[in-house]
Amino acid sequence: MNNVVIKVSDDILHKMQQFYKDNILPKTPNHALFSAKVNNITITAYKSNKVMFQGKDCDQEASMWGIFESKNKKDKSINNINLYNTSSVGSDEVGTGDYFGPIVVCASYVSKDDIKYLESLGIKDSKKLNDTKIKSIAEKVMEKIPYHVSILNNIKYNELQENGMNQNMMKAKLHNHCLLNVINKIDIKPENIIVDQFTPEKNYYNYLKDDNNVLKGIYFSTNGESVHLSVAASSIIARYVFLNEMDKLSDKVGFILPKGAGKPVDEVLPKINENDLKSIAKVHFANTNKRRTK
Ligand code: MG
Repeated sequence: MNNVVIKVSDDILHKMQQFYKDNILPKTPNHALFSAKVNNITITAYKSNKVMFQGKDCDQEASMWGIFESKNKKDKSINNINLYNTSSVGSDEVGTGDYFGPIVVCASYVSKDDIKYLESLGIKDSKKLNDTKIKSIAEKVMEKIPYHVSILNNIKYNELQENGMNQNMMKAKLHNHCLLNVINKIDIKPENIIVDQFTPEKNYYNYLKDDNNVLKGIYFSTNGESVHLSVAASSIIARYVFLNEMDKLSDKVGFILPKGAGKPVDEVLPKINENDLKSIAKVHFANTNKRRTK
C-alpha cells in the first residue's frame, strides 16, 4: 500500500510528535501539525487527528499507531489481542530523548500470579508517575520479579554514534540483550514477549541481522505498558536506574543535570567543560551546537 490514513487520539498524536521529532520536515502543510519523513515514508499529522502515511510499505509504519482498513486480512493490530492476563516478558527503555545521561533498557518477567501485587503498587500508570514515586515503587518491583538491565553509558553511546550507529539500532541491540538475559533467568517459557515499540518490526530485526542470537516471536506495541505489566514494570525499573545514573553524573559536575533536551539543558551547558561532555551527554544532539554558537 502506498497511502494509508488513520485516525488517532490526542494522546497518540502527541506520542507521534515525540516519536518523529528527529525526522520532522521543515515545511508543514496547511491544517497539519507536523510532517516527518522516515525510511522514505512521509507522515503527515493533521489537527483533525487524522494521520496520513505515504510511500512504499507505509501500512507497516501506520500499523504501529492504530487500526486501519487493510486489504490484507492478516494485518491485525496488537490492540485486538489481549495479553494482559498472561505470564510474559516485556521490555522498555529510558533516556533516549535526554541530552544528559545514558540509555537504560530493562526487560522483566511478570507471571500471572504477580499481576495483582504489581497492580496494587500502581505500576499500571507508569508513564504518569513522578520521580519520587518511581523510586519508592521500583525497589519493591525489583524485589518481586526477575529482570535484566543494560546501561549504555555516554562514552560508549557517543562512540557508537560517531561510528554511524543510529539510536534505534542501539535500542534494538539493548532490548534483544535484556530479553535474552531475563529469559535465561527464568526456567519457564514466557507465554508472550512484548517490546514497547520504537521502530517498525521489520527495522528491528534488520538492526539485528548481524547478531548471532536474536530473539524472535516478539509482539511490538507502541502502547506496551498497557498491553502487559512486564512492560510497565520494565519502564519503572529502567527509569529508576536512569535516575540513579543521573544523580551520579550530577554529583560529578557539581549541580543537578536537567532531564530532556530543552531550555533547562541549554541553560546549564555553559557551566560544563567541553571535554567533559562526552562522558555525560549525547553529544550529537542539537544542544551541543547551540552551546558553541553562543
Ligand atoms: Mg518506550
